[in-house]
Parts: sequence; C-alpha cells; structure tokens
Amino acid sequence: MAKLYNNIAILGLGLIGGSIALDLKKRRLAKRVVGYNRSAPSRRAALKRRACDAVISDPVAAVRDADLVVLATPVRHIPELLRKIAPGLKKGAVVTDVGSTKENIVRRAKKLLPKGVIFVGGHPIAGTEKTGMASALEGLFEGRWWVFTPDSAAGKRAAKRLRRLAKALGAKSLAMSPKEHDEILAAISHLPHMLAYALVHAAMGLQKGKALKLSGSSFRDVTRIAASSAQMWTDIGLDNHRGILRMIDRHEQFLKKLKSLLAKRDAKGLEKFFESAARVRRKL
Ligand code: NAD
Repeated sequence: MAKLYNNIAILGLGLIGGSIALDLKKRRLAKRVVGYNRSAPSRRAALKRRACDAVISDPVAAVRDADLVVLATPVRHIPELLRKIAPGLKKGAVVTDVGSTKENIVRRAKKLLPKGVIFVGGHPIAGTEKTGMASALEGLFEGRWWVFTPDSAAGKRAAKRLRRLAKALGAKSLAMSPKEHDEILAAISHLPHMLAYALVHAAMGLQKGKALKLSGSSFRDVTRIAASSAQMWTDIGLDNHRGILRMIDRHEQFLKKLKSLLAKRDAKGLEKFFESAARVRRKL
C-alpha cells in the first residue's frame, strides 16, 4: 500500500514525539521512521520499543532524507531546532511541530526555513501530565483533536496530507489560523493549567498542611494537571502570555460574578450559574 510519507523524522522522542513514532511504526504509516533525541537513554528506549527504525543524536542527519519532519521538543527549543536543521532539509520537505502554542512558532519558522520547504504548525490536543519516552503511549491520539495552522497556499495543500496522517493515527483534525489556535487554547488548556497551579498554591501550607492531607477526589481531579512539567508550562506561559492574560481577564469577570452572588447569598443566582455550566460540562 502506498504510504502517505516515505521517510519521517521525529525530533524529540518524549511523550508526544515518542507516541507519534510508536503509532507510525505499529500502523506501518511510513517506510522509515528516524528519531532524534539528545539523551542516550531515550534513544535506547525508542529502539527497544520499536518506535523508530533508527535513532540518532544529530538532528541534521536525522532530517536529511525526510519527506516529513515532526518537531516534538519543548516550545522554547523549536525555533532553535528549526535553525539547526534548515541547511539539511530536502527541497519539498514538509515540516510540522506539535508545540502547544502556534503564533510565535509559525512566525519564527517562516523566517528560519529555506524556500522550497513547507512549514505547517500542528498541535495534537492529547497528552498526559507525564513526560519522556518512557511515558509514550500507543493510541494516544485516538479520538483526539489535532489542529493544523497552515498560513500559505502551499501550507494548505501540505495540511491536507497531514490531516490524512492525523486520521491514520486515529485523530480528528481541523485547520485554523495560529491566532485563533492560541486564543482557543488559552481558554481550554493554558488558563486551566495556570488555575490548577494557583489552586495548589492556595491550599499549600493552609492549616499547617492539613488542607492538602484531607484533599479528596474533587481537589485531585481539578489539580491533576498541576503535576505537569514546570518547564513546559513556563514555555507555554511565556509564548502565549498575551492570550493567557486576556483569558485571565475574562475569567475574572466570572469570579467577580460568583463573588457578588455569594456576597448577596443569592441562592437562585448561584444555582443558575452552576446549572448553566454543569449542563455544558455534562455534554463534553
Ligand atoms: P517531553 O518532555 O516528554 O519531551 C520533550 C522531548 O524534547 C524530550 O525527548 C527531550 O529530550 C527533548 N528536548 C528537550 N530539550 C531539547 C533541546 N534543547 N533540544 C533537543 N531536544 C530537546 O515533552 P512532551 O510532553 O512530549 O512535549 C513536547 C511538545 O509537545 C511540547 O512542545 C509541548 O508543548 C507539546 N505538547 C505536549 C502535550 C502534553 O500534554 N504533554 C500535548 C500536546 C502538545
């Protein structure tokens, strides 16, 4: 059967890059999958789990024959990696990434990549609070959304094939602008992570640690993502700081509303506020 891409290079074999590689191999979606990772234990783990045909420590060598390059490192390292691999990319190669922010990465990619190479920003909305190749999972993208942010005619054509690849990995996909992506993600992912960290801070040290000791499923459910990588969330916070600040302002309006309902002991108002959100949440 014809493959969507012959040679795919995955740069960064962590949770997301490793999971993509595992499924590419398991589902035979490319003729050859080459991985690049800085650390030797992750390179060994990727080979042991048969996530790649070859794993190398030089990103330029990894992309040399690639028709598709997937960058899966933390957001702050994506532009630096783009600069490094630029001279080694094949003419006609498509480069995508999985970073959780898009505007800055897409803008930098345009400047850093040579003519004849097509960049399409990407973001699979899937993951866990864990990191590393050891946490990579087969089927991670099954039923999840994968957003692509093409911003040129060639990018739109390339995105069509990428969306077929996402489908073969089990994901639903859609295309939108990088700006739209960052605004939406600020609401449904970035702000929730910021709030989860803030909730842990608010309970930390309260009543000499008794608050956390007594924490039950509600606190644990709502703060699960506060166990995520601090480095990753620092990157995302900095990269999409404008979008997140706008979303904090928006969120403050609802907190103000809640404060006023509580201060007025407005039972009807509170019930209405909770029920209208609960109706939407139950359908997710
Ligand atoms: P991870 O920590 O599991 O993996 C990151 C990988 O990048 C590791 O293999 C690490 O060795 C490598 N790396 C780190 N710094 C590097 C550098 N300077 N040069 C080269 N390689 C480097 O993280 P992850 O969760 O797989 O996240 C990877 C990307 O995916 C991030 O951009 C993140 O925003 C995005 N993302 C994460 C999730 C999630 O829930 N974890 C979901 C969607 C997208």
